[in-house]
Amino acid sequence: MLDNITKSNLFNSIENIKGIGPKTSKLFEKLCGTKIIDLLLTMPRGIKKRMFLDQVSEQFLKEEVALIITVVKHIPQFNPRMPYKILCKNKNNEIEIIFFRGYTKYLKKILPVGENKVVCGKLEKLGSKYQIIHPESISHLEELPYLHGSLSLYSLTKGLTMSLYRKSIFSALKELIEIPEWINEAIIKKNNWHTWKETIELLHNPKELNDEKINKFKDRLSFDEALSHYIKLLIMKDKMKKNICYAVNVNNEIKNKILSDINFKLTGSQLKVLNEIENDLNKKTPMLRLLQGDVGSGKTIIALISLANLINRKMQGALMVPTEILAIQHYNYFSNMLKETNVKIALLTSKIKKKERDDIYENIENGSIQIIIGTHALFQKNVNFNNLNYIVIDEQHRFGVHQKFQLSEKGSNPHVLVMTATPIPRTLALTMYGNMNISKITELPANRTKIETRTISSNKTNKIIEELKSIIEKKENVFWICPLIEESEKLDLTAATKRFEKLKKYFGNYVGIIHGKMDIEEKKKIIDKFKSKKILILVSTTIIEVGIDVPNATVIIIEEANRFGLSQLHQLRGRVGRSDKKSSCILLYKNKNINEFSKKRLNTIKLNNDGFKIAEEDLKLRGFGEISGTKQSGYQLFKILDPLKDIKIMEEALVEAKKIFEKRKNMKKEDKNIINIFLKIYNQSSSMDYIKIA
Ligand code: ADP
Ligand code: MG
Repeated sequence: MLDNITKSNLFNSIENIKGIGPKTSKLFEKLCGTKIIDLLLTMPRGIKKRMFLDQVSEQFLKEEVALIITVVKHIPQFNPRMPYKILCKNKNNEIEIIFFRGYTKYLKKILPVGENKVVCGKLEKLGSKYQIIHPESISHLEELPYLHGSLSLYSLTKGLTMSLYRKSIFSALKELIEIPEWINEAIIKKNNWHTWKETIELLHNPKELNDEKINKFKDRLSFDEALSHYIKLLIMKDKMKKNICYAVNVNNEIKNKILSDINFKLTGSQLKVLNEIENDLNKKTPMLRLLQGDVGSGKTIIALISLANLINRKMQGALMVPTEILAIQHYNYFSNMLKETNVKIALLTSKIKKKERDDIYENIENGSIQIIIGTHALFQKNVNFNNLNYIVIDEQHRFGVHQKFQLSEKGSNPHVLVMTATPIPRTLALTMYGNMNISKITELPANRTKIETRTISSNKTNKIIEELKSIIEKKENVFWICPLIEESEKLDLTAATKRFEKLKKYFGNYVGIIHGKMDIEEKKKIIDKFKSKKILILVSTTIIEVGIDVPNATVIIIEEANRFGLSQLHQLRGRVGRSDKKSSCILLYKNKNINEFSKKRLNTIKLNNDGFKIAEEDLKLRGFGEISGTKQSGYQLFKILDPLKDIKIMEEALVEAKKIFEKRKNMKKEDKNIINIFLKIYNQSSSMDYIKIA
């Protein structure tokens, strides 16, 4: 049985499916993932009814139908503005299939004269002729059973049609195999659930239209997913706490030095969380702590002070951040603040040149570098730490649970602090990360003034540019953010470049541009120039979204603000208002793109300055994946489960996971394998194959 699974195609690339080539697979990837199993685990967003008509008749006009037709002849258009018609027969009736923009070659290929096909679409009649205009699909006869009755609908992306999606699902369904049940029988019975295989089959091919059933299928798969998630957490936690760790005793001398070097006093909140962290670090059991604090609340200094405890000990610390720009910024800040100590700090990102990178690897391995600041590059294979004792992860919502774990694995039970400005309700944090302790910074530094936020039509962009003149005279910095367009970095860049050129006409060399495609040296240079006020207006794509700290920046302009999530807008806005200077945020929108709903969203930002409030609104308006940033980062925590709605399922799954986990040592090998297969099915990261029950 299990042999079947290892041999099955489920874990192979979706490119193995007929009709999905390298190009289309990229589109699918955006929606579901890279493997056949990922495709099968996409949830239909609804159902549509379509009837099979043996014979067309008046009574079914305007209905969605599936028909068997025989192609009689093609009537090409001589004038490109005329429709392309294909005359067909259905029983004794004539029916025309009409395309307004048709490519003769293509149409002849999909509807060859003399062949029988299934055509689906809305039945129309013009004069005495039946018609189907732009059929939704044209298929082989053997696909007929999938083409009528209740049909699942899927979320699509540009370039992907519903019929291709459905067809691919059908092909993928052929690869589906039965896996022995892993959920407790009593739970299956109580909920009246089907087997795993049946559930997926029914989900994509519902025999009768019925939301209740869809929910039932979804619940079963959500339970699977939650169960696998919790078992994984338990495995990780078990690995982490197995050995005791080194205590990182607090170094008061360095701490006091830092505190006297900064030109502000820590807030009461900052002192409190620092204390909580220090207490943990002093212990010989590894810390696992989440530090929440709104944008600008001053989390970096906490990371700095706590990491500085490692100095003059044979210990290493790592600070991991989601973007290169943020890594550079933290690196500069740390280097500057600790320059009078003998600590060695390194910057490690994937864009650092090979030779330099090899040097860094070597010095990480021999222990001469003590604090390593970097991006995802930190947990790659070649990085071997000498003695990694303490890890700080900034903007944690940008990383997956696994990635955090992968980094921890590089030390022997290091202390872990994860920091975030995106608030996650406590219950959710617990269900997502297990027994994590939480610290909160609940106040902003006293010197802050409220950021004035305005929503303005992009027709008035020129007026905004005029307004910037006085800001430039004052030598204050401005961010100008251009949005993600169709999630393509290339198009993004065009928009940003255009804006850059235009602003240059007004402000000359005061304008700079920064984007993801630049190499690290270029980025460093631009940021330096911005901080030293040689550049005053920085045009950027959203790569500066998180963490960037330029206290002299007082204005941020966000183009097509309605394209962003609320939490993302709040993060962006947080780039200004980082000092006592009066700051403002301008949200531009295009009139044609804005409706009541998007107005309401922008207003939420305008009226609220509190990240927690905004996050709550965001949760109401959008899904969890989007608010937690996991969607934007291309990393989705769950495929099916909605941690906001499926709380009951999660609770029950947690209980079950614990039971399974406790029993694991006495399990038969066969049973362990079944569990490991489910872990793999719901695995959120392909590189994590090693999370298994052993
Ligand atoms: P975030 O929590 O968003 O990461 P940062 O750590 O980047 O915030 O801090 C934002 C800015 O506020 C930085 O310029 C930092 O030096 C400054 N800052 C931090 N703590 C205080 C404080 N207690 N008083 C005044 N300014 C502070
Ligand atoms: Mg920060």
